[in-house]
Amino acid sequence: MSIDHEFPLSEAAARFIAAPKKNLIGGHWCEAQSGLTLDVRNPATGEVFARVPAADAADIDQAVRAARSAFESQGWRGARPIDRERWLLKLAELVEANAQELAEIETLDNGKPVTLARRVDVTQAADFLRYIAGWATKIEGSTVEASAPAFRKNEFFAYTRREPVGVVGAIIPWNFPLLMAAWKVGPALAAGCTVVLKPAEDTPLTALRFAELALEAGFPAGVLNVVTGFGHIAGAALAAHPGVNKISFTGSTQVGKLIGKAAMDNMTRVSLELGGKSPVIVLDDADPKAAAAGAANAVFFNMGQVCVAGSRLYVQRGIFDAVLEGVSAGAQKLRIGPGLDPNSQLGPLVSEKQMNRVRGYIQSGIDDGGRVLTGGERIGERGYFVKPTVLTGLGEQARIVQEEVFGPVVVATPFDDLDEVVKLANSTPYGLAASIWSNDLKRVQRLIPRIEAGTVWVNCHGVMDNALPFGGYKQSGIGREMGSSLIDHYTETKSVLMML
Ligand code: NDP
Repeated sequence: MSIDHEFPLSEAAARFIAAPKKNLIGGHWCEAQSGLTLDVRNPATGEVFARVPAADAADIDQAVRAARSAFESQGWRGARPIDRERWLLKLAELVEANAQELAEIETLDNGKPVTLARRVDVTQAADFLRYIAGWATKIEGSTVEASAPAFRKNEFFAYTRREPVGVVGAIIPWNFPLLMAAWKVGPALAAGCTVVLKPAEDTPLTALRFAELALEAGFPAGVLNVVTGFGHIAGAALAAHPGVNKISFTGSTQVGKLIGKAAMDNMTRVSLELGGKSPVIVLDDADPKAAAAGAANAVFFNMGQVCVAGSRLYVQRGIFDAVLEGVSAGAQKLRIGPGLDPNSQLGPLVSEKQMNRVRGYIQSGIDDGGRVLTGGERIGERGYFVKPTVLTGLGEQARIVQEEVFGPVVVATPFDDLDEVVKLANSTPYGLAASIWSNDLKRVQRLIPRIEAGTVWVNCHGVMDNALPFGGYKQSGIGREMGSSLIDHYTETKSVLMML
């Protein structure tokens, strides 16, 4: 097993990588019952540097039972909201205290630049845990003035309670592994649920380190269980397990649909944060330089492996050439290299499979008559590096315009008026996000209600806030994360009516 020795790891990260990896079930670290493992590769080199348990249905069953038993235990049930808040605040503190180690592990696993992993993934995970810790003490029902017309002679006292939904199955992707773990685990624990977390097979490591930190933070055994394994085996078993009350999933629309169907058989509650094909709309009053920089960042950030990546660029004709030139120049300037190199601005894609997928999409764009303005190729033969790519000259029906690429690839198209760009923007099955670049308030305000997207940014793209609901229209998902919606997701409402 090897890692990229050119850029040494901190002592803490090296120690974690070298240690045997086990699942956390009911407070115990255990191998898969089958004894099987799966290889974890460094995307910068393609080499295997760790192995984790390859769990199957038996391990998932064990974890769900452990989560159920913890859910019913006095240690967790009897804990007060303020206890859950304190444990979550402690976990946030521990994430911050171990930030460099977590960032390095994330980089080895996912490929992203370590500076980005630290600034975005780790920092936002800690901030989010703090935000959601505050919600633990703010969960409330309401008192209701009951009329009960059939019982006019009686008096009533009626109110609602919010109660934890139970055992939560969390299935997360590989693009922001630690942050996604925090997004799922934090609110579930704040609400008093217990969790079985299944990280992506390509990036299982920070979830295991996160589990260690959760134990250190004081969460009782069994409240958080982490089980690594393949999606079609361990993930599918979790989604279909009758002992799970709620599945929270982030990933592809295709798998989201499978999970939704499996969950429905048991009436398991489900929330799905799925793919996107977000348009970046530049109106002709915008500063072409600023819009080009924004559009480049919207699609190249995290190598385009972002659900809200701005992968379709629509620019009003008068400034189309200027913006396109700026985006292409921006793409060429980005420093691409191993994520552990502190000078890298972009790293490799997460896996060989993802690299081949992205290259396949670029080729399909060329086959459909698209012109490559910059990029379009793999870099070298080692690791999974692909050049940031800008294409133009493609019609709306081209595969690369309709489907989620999840790589550093943007297709640029000119438009003439607002009606035309609304039609273009809404022309895919997705509806996760969009951005509009303009200072013409009237035109911006007229556009916003017409765009089918869960989030619309103006003069920025991809800016996330813990308090703003986040989720998709159309095939981009069901439900909203962030803000008070999170508490709704992880609680049931109980109505109480007393005859006095
Ligand atoms: P998936 O949707 O397959 O993976 C997301 C998670 O679901 C992973 O933990 C995965 O496990 C698990 N999973 C896979 N199959 C099943 C199943 N049958 N039942 C339950 N869980 C399952 O995404 P991919 O990794 O395959 O990426 C493919 C594409 O998905 C990307 O190119 C991108 O377009 C999109 N995607 C979107 C994301 C988003 O944030 N919206 C994030 C990631 C991907 P395992 O890793 O073991 O397969």
